[in-house]
Amino acid sequence: MVIRNPEIFDLGQDRTKFWGDQGNRLDWFKPWDKVLEWNNPFAKWYAGGKLNAAYNCLDRHLNGARRNKAALIFEGELGDYRVLTYQDLHREVSRFANVLKSYGVEKGDRVTIYMPMIPETVIAMLACARIGAPHIVVFGGFSYEALKDRVLDAQSKVIVTSDGSYRRGNIIPLKENVDQALKTVTCVEKVIVVQRTGQSVAMQEGRDIWYHEVVKNIPIVCPAEEMDADDMLFILYTSGTTGKPKGIVHSVGGYMVGVSTTHEWVFDLKDEDVYWCTADVGWITGHSYLVYGPLANGATILLYEGAPDYPDKDRYWEIVEKYKVTILYTAPTAIRTFMKWGEKYPMGRDISSLRLLGSVGEPINPDAWMWYHKHIGKERCPIVDTWWQTETGMIMITPIPEVTPLKAGSCAVPFPGVKMGIVDHQGKPVEKGDSGYLVVCEPWPAMLKTVYGDDKRYEDTYWGQYAGMYFTGDEAKWDEDGYFWVIGRVDDVINVSGHRIGTAEVEGALVDHPAVAEAACVGRTHAVKGQAVFAFVSLKEGIVVHDSLIAELKAHVVLKIGSLARPDDVFLTDELPKTRSGKIMRRLLKDIAEGRAMGDTSTLADASIIDLLKKNVNQKT
Ligand code: ATP
Ligand code: MG
Repeated sequence: MVIRNPEIFDLGQDRTKFWGDQGNRLDWFKPWDKVLEWNNPFAKWYAGGKLNAAYNCLDRHLNGARRNKAALIFEGELGDYRVLTYQDLHREVSRFANVLKSYGVEKGDRVTIYMPMIPETVIAMLACARIGAPHIVVFGGFSYEALKDRVLDAQSKVIVTSDGSYRRGNIIPLKENVDQALKTVTCVEKVIVVQRTGQSVAMQEGRDIWYHEVVKNIPIVCPAEEMDADDMLFILYTSGTTGKPKGIVHSVGGYMVGVSTTHEWVFDLKDEDVYWCTADVGWITGHSYLVYGPLANGATILLYEGAPDYPDKDRYWEIVEKYKVTILYTAPTAIRTFMKWGEKYPMGRDISSLRLLGSVGEPINPDAWMWYHKHIGKERCPIVDTWWQTETGMIMITPIPEVTPLKAGSCAVPFPGVKMGIVDHQGKPVEKGDSGYLVVCEPWPAMLKTVYGDDKRYEDTYWGQYAGMYFTGDEAKWDEDGYFWVIGRVDDVINVSGHRIGTAEVEGALVDHPAVAEAACVGRTHAVKGQAVFAFVSLKEGIVVHDSLIAELKAHVVLKIGSLARPDDVFLTDELPKTRSGKIMRRLLKDIAEGRAMGDTSTLADASIIDLLKKNVNQKT
């Protein structure tokens, strides 16, 4: 990649100037007066500026050659596909924005989007952005209770949903879930239903409307609302890996500058790229790096509706082959699953179009990193391991391809213009080689504005620990070269005889064993050591369990880390409990290991795994 100004990597103190320069990448209706107004811990980025996110994702690409470029390539689970050019997407977004307006949705009104991964989902998000109505995307795999909590917390006026969604050939009844969720909810006035699966659904007179019917006779011109840079763009509830979901609020200006800058640099974006982010739109990666960042940059995005193993385990590679995908951004959980299935699946397809790979969501253990590098990247594609959060809105720690030397398992260094640190419990920076709490030392453009309706929770949760610093909730190590290694979440770190052991490290050691596909470790109360490591392990396909396997796994951890980290218990299981975004829910595994009542399970992908685990662990111990 050609770095336009290499000196920006050494910004000194002038990060605000850097972000001021980056602000110019967007189209503004009115320029900002001040890049940053900081009223600790409340920030106004690009204060006084006016812009619109949808305008920046669509309208400004319509004047030149990009007008007829593919903006969105959609691949359905059943193999059906659709391509929308920038012009097409602009038209559909404007039409749907007019539909929303016709039902009384005004600037500031909240709209919940509970949809499969289909073009109408992206259209609905951008339509909301166009008229200044903050959207709340709720992952289509969430239960009706999870949906209801979010609708109520945000007090949504409208819900956009579909009759159903395809998942491994089955149909998930989204509309039915909405009906369940709304039984006792009064704030929702209209439910707009996209027809996707075609199964029959109950339509409530006066409340429910078919999407395809209402878009028919509606004008296709809808001016983009002039939004203050600081106005709300969306609310997104965190997945809840660690507890009750919070409504994270992102504002238009800073967020758009942050995601478009990082998207271009981290993925070294070129005009001819076919960019595929496999994340669901229901989580932050789907917002920032499937929709807003790439479309603001005029990229061609790929949207895939279904499961990675439907109809077969090579579906992803089939898609890469079919559309000649050049950039793939996915999660360690997916990579470990592909490892478990074996390399014959990617080998059977031509994936030579790939030139850059990304990872996000959890620490990627070196073993999975190497597999990704070898079998998907064919040892020629750089891997960007990107650390960030729903709250940060944009990538914060990452290598820049062909600029930052890569280290397997490290997310490298903070992005230009971002200042991060690792501190001890008093908030003092640790030395190189040491570990501590991961913090952000200065405001950054895509930072959350607040927790919806709860400024105090925002202050306490994020800015309450260390004065003037944002606390991420993660622990990390700073190596001799200044690289960051995320150890895991603070709540997950296991304290054995006073030594803090990172879950990522023990799990990495276990996955390094040839028989292991995936592992999750938690601390279990121990009379002598304080805590002992309890490991849940799933094996690769075709591995036969033999008598000494457990002992072998324990010995492998001792070999890799030391006897301190030796798990007291290793429990074999086919599946681990994960959130819908694919993250292991150690919080629940801890409940199981301790034999206590379960915490909130509403964001689990498959609740039956937990019941099964609980039963089996109880029987065994
Ligand atoms: P909740 O905050 O509700 O518990 P969550 O933290 O899982 O949910 P996200 O905001 O999607 O929701 O995830 C951010 C977290 O994911 C980070 O704090 C970190 O623990 C982990 N993470 C993300 N990317 C990486 C990465 N590249 N390396 C290591 N950890 C990562
Ligand atoms: Mg979090």
